[in-house]
Amino acid sequence: MNRREFLETVVAAVPALGWQGTPANEWGSPVFDLHFHLRQQPAANLAHLDGAGVTKANLLTRAAALEQIKALQSAAPGRFTWFGSYDVSRPDAEQVLTQAAKDGAQGFGEMKFHVAADGPEFRRIYALAADLRVPILIHFQEVDHFPNEGTWATGYAKTFESILKAYPKTTFIGHADAFWANVSADYHNESAYPSGPIARGGVTDRLLANYPNLYGDLSANSGNNMLSRDPDFTADFLRRHQNKLMFGSDCGCADGHGAGIGQANNPAASRLAGKCVARETLTVLKRSATPDVFRKITWDNVHKLLKLPA
Ligand SMILES: [Zn+2]
Ligand SMILES: [Zn+2]
Repeated sequence: MNRREFLETVVAAVPALGWQGTPANEWGSPVFDLHFHLRQQPAANLAHLDGAGVTKANLLTRAAALEQIKALQSAAPGRFTWFGSYDVSRPDAEQVLTQAAKDGAQGFGEMKFHVAADGPEFRRIYALAADLRVPILIHFQEVDHFPNEGTWATGYAKTFESILKAYPKTTFIGHADAFWANVSADYHNESAYPSGPIARGGVTDRLLANYPNLYGDLSANSGNNMLSRDPDFTADFLRRHQNKLMFGSDCGCADGHGAGIGQANNPAASRLAGKCVARETLTVLKRSATPDVFRKITWDNVHKLLKLPA
């Protein structure tokens, strides 16, 4: 077979791999969404990816979703990886998460629970993640989105450095309000989404620079808000942490164009009401990063971290 014949074979095989309908060039290079919550219907998952110009996504799932995951993976081969989550405060958490990894989960997440980030419930899961060599994606939040919501993986700014030191073999992926608000050195839990210029030298900036076992997930209003506050800072931040940051959407819209998204449960995030978070964040990344850095953040870094063929 000569080179041309080989290429024709590859092109002919592409529709069979479920890549049809994906506008691969919309963002200039392919895009991987690290933070995509599994939807009930296989078609609803694909509608968001295709609508937003996303090539592949990592499904965040809870225990007992294996059948749905397998159905989606066979409907669209090569487009979905998955992480599994389970309440860390339950006695069987290690057992359930170990089984998820055996079933093909490539990480733990999203881990969003009402316990301290440095408490015993999470510590045993950090150790398990190191043993199983899978990353753990954590939602850090100290400010309610609605009355009495409660806080999630608390104590990030004060205690998480001690965890990074204590679990050097665990790969952590930070996400959500407290993680991204603490990019600014002047943040003290005043609001979920602080605005205005970023004070240099914040906790998250320093931890990303100093700890090889910490990565950042840029999804949700929290990631988009951080990237949108201070354009000069953003460009430099993306350049400095270009090997540690990963694009994710955490978007709940129906079509990849903002349909059906009201942020009703989160009034502080109303700036993104009616918009697709994936599109908004890809747009700010595109404008703030060089093409090389954009490709690392939206594709290469996650492929390296999860050891996926690119
Ligand atoms: Zn989250
Ligand atoms: Zn969307």
